[in-house]
Amino acid sequence: MSEPAVNTPGNQPLLRASWIEIDLAALRENFRLINGYKDRSVDLISVLKDDAYSHGAVEAAKIAMQAGAKFIALVTVDEAIRLREAGIQSPILMLGQRRNEDLPYCLQYNLTCCINDRESAEELVRLTRDKNIATPVHLKVDTGMSRFGVRWTEAGALIDFVCSQKSLRLEGVMSHFAMSDELDKSFAFLQLSRFQEVLELLEQKNISVRYRHFCNSGGLLDLPQAHLDAVRIGLLPLGIYPSKVCRRIEGIRPVMSVKTKLAQIRTLQKDDVVGYGMRYRATEERRIAVLPIGYGDGFPRVRNQGEVLIRGKRAPLIGGVSMDAITVDITNIPEANRWDEAVIMGRQGSDEISVHELALLKNSVSYDVLTGLRGRLPRVYLNT
Ligand SMILES: *Cc1c(COP(=O)(O)O)cnc(C)c1O
Repeated sequence: MSEPAVNTPGNQPLLRASWIEIDLAALRENFRLINGYKDRSVDLISVLKDDAYSHGAVEAAKIAMQAGAKFIALVTVDEAIRLREAGIQSPILMLGQRRNEDLPYCLQYNLTCCINDRESAEELVRLTRDKNIATPVHLKVDTGMSRFGVRWTEAGALIDFVCSQKSLRLEGVMSHFAMSDELDKSFAFLQLSRFQEVLELLEQKNISVRYRHFCNSGGLLDLPQAHLDAVRIGLLPLGIYPSKVCRRIEGIRPVMSVKTKLAQIRTLQKDDVVGYGMRYRATEERRIAVLPIGYGDGFPRVRNQGEVLIRGKRAPLIGGVSMDAITVDITNIPEANRWDEAVIMGRQGSDEISVHELALLKNSVSYDVLTGLRGRLPRVYLNT
């Protein structure tokens, strides 16, 4: 088990024995496979919100652009400014809703806003009135998610307003699926037909819009009839499927692994207890290892549940998860030594702990596990 080459952003040394590994070769390959899966005429919008689901938005943005993405999509102005300051010059689409006081920053940093309602459209007009070139915007249409966007039945008036403004240019029109990756597609089809009504309205008004986009990863996989001009995908390029039942693309593989090392090895005597709340009591002599990773790093806060990989074998967690440590039983892995590598998520030998396995422990979904892996874990980039 070799040390990873330290390739943290800024080349800071790895200052702890737990880290996230990001395989950029896998990210490149996943984008290549996705490009082969969709029609060539369908453009990519690479969704890199929340630091690319903890993979690192700057590194992911560079690869997304190399793969031909036309936009990077983000949510907070903060993360957009960080990408701009790292030299990413691609168009950036801002999902969700901005406050009026955030809009000047969007203009300053050349961020493309989604328009959800008349009020923010008017504020953008006020800010752009004196510019020589029209500012591109994407109209967000709510077709049933009931989150952001103008209700599909009310889109006409907002389209008229935006298109009547010389300082705005309707570059995109978009919607978002509430359920695209499950077997039952009936609501997705209903949403799509509502969106089609809006697209037809645009045609009647003789308004051509460059980017009509609807699909997330689930939609890309399962709803080719909704691909339109572009797909907005975040999870799939990271090598993770949004559900168990959505279609598969042969060769897609996870980009992220989470690793740690055996910081302590100890022997428990019969009746010794382990950890806060004394949630584990040894019924006989056991050999255990302490791993320096905990719920403070995003590991699910479970008790006597879950496994890690050591020397290619599964070691079960015992006791509770602390903020900075977990304990595993290695009685059945006698070859394990102090400072051996342990895999929290990812492959070791012929076995793998998937993000979905961790999501089950957390009673949640893969997105939540990934975004829960927070800044305290250094990231190491492989195959840069
Ligand atoms: C997060 C998000 C996406 C990407 O979804 P994935 O399932 O990660 O592909 C697309 N569109 C919107 C509006 C989003 O918020």
